[in-house]
Amino acid sequence: MNTSLACAIDDAPAPLYIVKTSTIHGTGIFARSTIAPGTCIVEYQGERIQWEQALDRADAKGPLNHTYFFSLNDGRIIDGGKDGNAARFINHSCEPNCEAMEHDDGRVYIYALQEIEAGEELSYDYALIYEERHTPAVKRAFACYCGASACNGSMLMPKRSARYRAQKALAK
Ligand SMILES: [Zn+2]
Repeated sequence: MNTSLACAIDDAPAPLYIVKTSTIHGTGIFARSTIAPGTCIVEYQGERIQWEQALDRADAKGPLNHTYFFSLNDGRIIDGGKDGNAARFINHSCEPNCEAMEHDDGRVYIYALQEIEAGEELSYDYALIYEERHTPAVKRAFACYCGASACNGSMLMPKRSARYRAQKALAK
């Protein structure tokens, strides 16, 4: 593992964030004070499940559900809705100020992409990969509410994008 990715959040005296109502959707997490670029903010915790289980769980919640899914390189999903922590409240954005990185041990941490001001909502690009057809039901389940001018309306990565292929290649 690249040592620059080391995450010292377990040693932090207090969380770098607060949880409150989001301007994007539902609940969000916000910078407690200024966060420097590259700072490791929080681990993304939750149950590790297969995509099929994730879709079943999304369907069960109805068309306007709020899911807490994170795609792992091995194709599984972390469902932050089960055994999760505050990281599940970080909203997706098509213009995010954070990024999620999966370490070699399969644990996922959220890092600041840029300087984040106190009170700013944290977000990252979920870039969820779904191999099957992006049916209307799937699209509804993963609709994006970020409101960015570059918003593409979905938390799912487009199936034919270069980034999608790159991530697929990485996942092999
Ligand atoms: Zn968006």
